[in-house]
Amino acid sequence: MRRISIFGATGSVGANGVDLIRRGGGADAYDVVALTGGRNIARLAQMARDLRAEIAVTAHPELLDDLRDALSGSGVRAAAGEAALIEAAAMPADWMLSAIVGSAGLAPGLTALAQGAVLALANKESLVCAGGLLRRTGRDSGATILPVDSEHSALFQALAGEKLDSVRDVTITASGGAFRDWPLERLAAATVAEASTHPNWAMGQRITIDSASMFNKAMEVIEAKEFFGLAPDRINVLVHPESIIHAIVNHIDGGSIAHMGAPDMRHAIGFALHWPERRALPVPPLDLARAASLTFRAPDETRWPALRLAREVMAAGGAAGAVFNAAKEQALDDFIAGRIRFTDMSPRVETTLSALSGEAGFGDDPDTLQAVLEWDALARQKAAA
Ligand code: NDP
Repeated sequence: MRRISIFGATGSVGANGVDLIRRGGGADAYDVVALTGGRNIARLAQMARDLRAEIAVTAHPELLDDLRDALSGSGVRAAAGEAALIEAAAMPADWMLSAIVGSAGLAPGLTALAQGAVLALANKESLVCAGGLLRRTGRDSGATILPVDSEHSALFQALAGEKLDSVRDVTITASGGAFRDWPLERLAAATVAEASTHPNWAMGQRITIDSASMFNKAMEVIEAKEFFGLAPDRINVLVHPESIIHAIVNHIDGGSIAHMGAPDMRHAIGFALHWPERRALPVPPLDLARAASLTFRAPDETRWPALRLAREVMAAGGAAGAVFNAAKEQALDDFIAGRIRFTDMSPRVETTLSALSGEAGFGDDPDTLQAVLEWDALARQKAAA
C-alpha cells in the first residue's frame, strides 16, 4: 500500500485531500502515516481516527493534551510542536501533501523531499521563499515535486510532452478576488470580512484575502518561475472572472493550449495523488453551455500593485522572495488584526523589500533552511505595524 501523509490536513486543501483518500478506500487502500493540523484538534483527531493514521501532530505544544484526549483508545500517536512536525515529515512516506499555510510549511516539506517522497505542493510560500533550496533538495534525493496550485497543475498538464523551447510564454488566470469591480477609492475602507469572501473558490481565509489583494497571484507568478524555470517575462497574468480556464501555454507556432475545469481543488489534488495516471475524481464535469461566456481582461497594476512587486522580486533574486513572502504574511496578520488598512499591505511589503535590499547577502540565494528563516524573521520584524 502507498504510504501517504497530509500536512495541514485540517485546512481547506488538506481536508479536500483527506476527502479524496476517504473516497478512495481510506485506511483499507492507503497506509496513512501522518496527519497534521494547528488549532482544530477535534477535526484532526477525527481524521486521524477515520484514516487510522500512525501519528497526528498539532503545531501547538499547548494543545498536546487535548489531542491526546481526543485520540485516546484509537491507537493513533499524538505529538505537538515544530520539531514533532519535522519528525513526522521524516517518517518514510511515498507521497506527502504539503498544505500548511505560510512559511511554516517550508521545513516539513523540505524534510519530506530530502527523504525522496513525492511532494504534492500546495504550500506556494515554500517555492517563493526557497525555490532554489527546494529544487536542489529534491534533485539530490531523487524526489519529485508536483504542483497542487490549480494554475500550476494546469500548466503542468498543458506542458506535458512539450519542449520549453517551443513555448513562447504562459498565462495564469486570476478571478480578480473580492474587489475586482470595486471603485478604487473604496478599497482603503475594505473590511476583513469583505476581503475574506471569494467569488468562485472556497479556500482558507488567508489565501482568500491574498486573492483580493492579488498577492496570491503575485506569489503564483514567482511559483511558476521557480517551478517551470521560465523567465519572468514569459509569465503573464490574465483576469478571468469565471475561473474556468486556469492556465494557457502559448506556443511559438501561434497555437495555445488551455487547461479548463470547474473551480474545485480536488482536481489538482487528485491529479497529484494519482500522477502519472489519471483516475475518476469527484469533480463536477465542466458545463460550458451553462457557463455561457468566458471573459478576460488585463490586470490593472494600480488596483493590484502586488503584481508589480512580484516582477521586482524576480528581478532582484537572492533573498527577495523570502523577504517578500514574510513581509506579506506580516502585513496580512496586521490587516486581519485591524492594525492596518487593506491598501496599506502592498506599501508595507514594498518598504520592507527596499529597506532590506541594502543588507549584506541580500543578493545571494539563501541556500539553507536556516538562512531562509533568518531573512523571514528579519522581514517580519521590519514589516510589523
Ligand atoms: P487553511 O488556512 O485552510 O489551512 C491551513 C492548514 O495549516 C490548517 O491545517 C492549519 O491548521 C495549518 N496551520 C496553520 N498554521 C500553522 C502553523 N504555524 N504550523 C503548522 N500548521 C499550521 O489554508 P488553505 O488550505 O487555504 O491553504 C493551504 C496552502 O495551500 C497555502 O499555502 C495556500 O496558499 C495553498 N493553496 C490553497 C488553495 C485553496 O484552495 N485553499 C489553492 C491553492 C493553494 P488549523 O486549521 O487546525 O489551525
